[in-house]
Amino acid sequence: MAVKGGIEASDQDWADLLSKVTRDGFYGVSSTAIYCDFACPSRPPLRKNLRIFEVAEEAEAGGYRRCKRCAAPGVHARTGFYSR
Ligand SMILES: [Zn+2]
Repeated sequence: MAVKGGIEASDQDWADLLSKVTRDGFYGVSSTAIYCDFACPSRPPLRKNLRIFEVAEEAEAGGYRRCKRCAAPGVHARTGFYSR
């Protein structure tokens, strides 16, 4: 299924992803249709597949699914979205 939405990753977004900082927003990976916190422990995706979202709802609306590794209870307290 094709996913859509998000914006192109900036150099700063890419640097944040690689250093796994805790920050606002999410990154989506268009090749897998998964979206993650920047602090997600998963392996970094290819940069060309990266899309940036401000809020989880935006990613969901584009057809992305929440990554299970960074959606653990507590991790996502900031937005409350999908915290269970
Ligand atoms: Zn993740």
